[in-house]
Amino acid sequence: MRADLHTHSTRSDGTDAPADVVAQAAAAGLDLLALTDHDTASGWPEAIAAGTALGVEVWPGIEVSTRRDGHSLHMLGYLLDPTAESIAEQMHRSRVSRQTRAERMVERLAVDYDIDWAQVAAQVESGATIGRPHIADALVANRQFPDRDAAFATVLNVRSPYHVGHYAPDIADAVRAIRAAGGVAVLAHGRAPRQRLRADRELVEELVEAGLNGLEIDHRDHDEQSRRLLRSWADQHDLIVTGGSDFHGTGKQNRLAENLTRGDQVERIRAAAR
Ligand code: AMP
Ligand code: FE
Ligand code: FE
Ligand code: ZN
Repeated sequence: MRADLHTHSTRSDGTDAPADVVAQAAAAGLDLLALTDHDTASGWPEAIAAGTALGVEVWPGIEVSTRRDGHSLHMLGYLLDPTAESIAEQMHRSRVSRQTRAERMVERLAVDYDIDWAQVAAQVESGATIGRPHIADALVANRQFPDRDAAFATVLNVRSPYHVGHYAPDIADAVRAIRAAGGVAVLAHGRAPRQRLRADRELVEELVEAGLNGLEIDHRDHDEQSRRLLRSWADQHDLIVTGGSDFHGTGKQNRLAENLTRGDQVERIRAAAR
């Protein structure tokens, strides 16, 4: 069983349409792909239809933007009902807030860089979840930076004066909302060094109380020490352990299927979903 449970499409900050991500999954020999766009389920119908046509199982998923103590953390949700009240409201509020936040960041950037709102809007599909990567794409198109990474290393960084935050639900509330929607909640790249807040034992224990099902361990942002720590917490709480590529097309270095989830863990997720 080859399963990649963390991917993005043009419905958020990936560069390939949902059907194209699924086509690449088929070419990469994946049996199962989860589409986990940021704060939206809008890519699911296209991805699932492509999966049916190409013989790849496609799981509906999301990656919820969350906050804790003012810091950003991501929560993956699988096999959930996106119309359930609490998760639908969280996703809606996040997307609305992301829009005004992006507009404010562009206003700030326009003082010093060649960029305007129309150029950013041109980088985002209608109705897709907007994020800093789309601002990066506009800056790159205007030759202000060579690529997304360079823009993120400087002006788009959380520490940059051009950065503006957006609404996101508290991370424990996101877990509760995913579970209330019948889904399975897995903490995404919880120990990634680029996060200002890295999950610790206390946070994991609190999230387990809230209903957390699993931890994403095999991810390129986790070094061996982080993986060991996460594995010890997973063992302690009998949590599901996953791996995923966090594929964003050409928007990130991450290659599809570079990290996978074991078949027995896939079955645990399937069994935990309602
Ligand atoms: P936002 O959610 O709008 O705050 O933007 C964060 C998103 O930017 C994350 O989902 C990442 O996928 C993406 N991102 C973060 N750092 C980089 C980077 N160095 N290059 C490309 N994309 C990045
Ligand atoms: Fe992303
Ligand atoms: Fe993420
Ligand atoms: Zn992701």
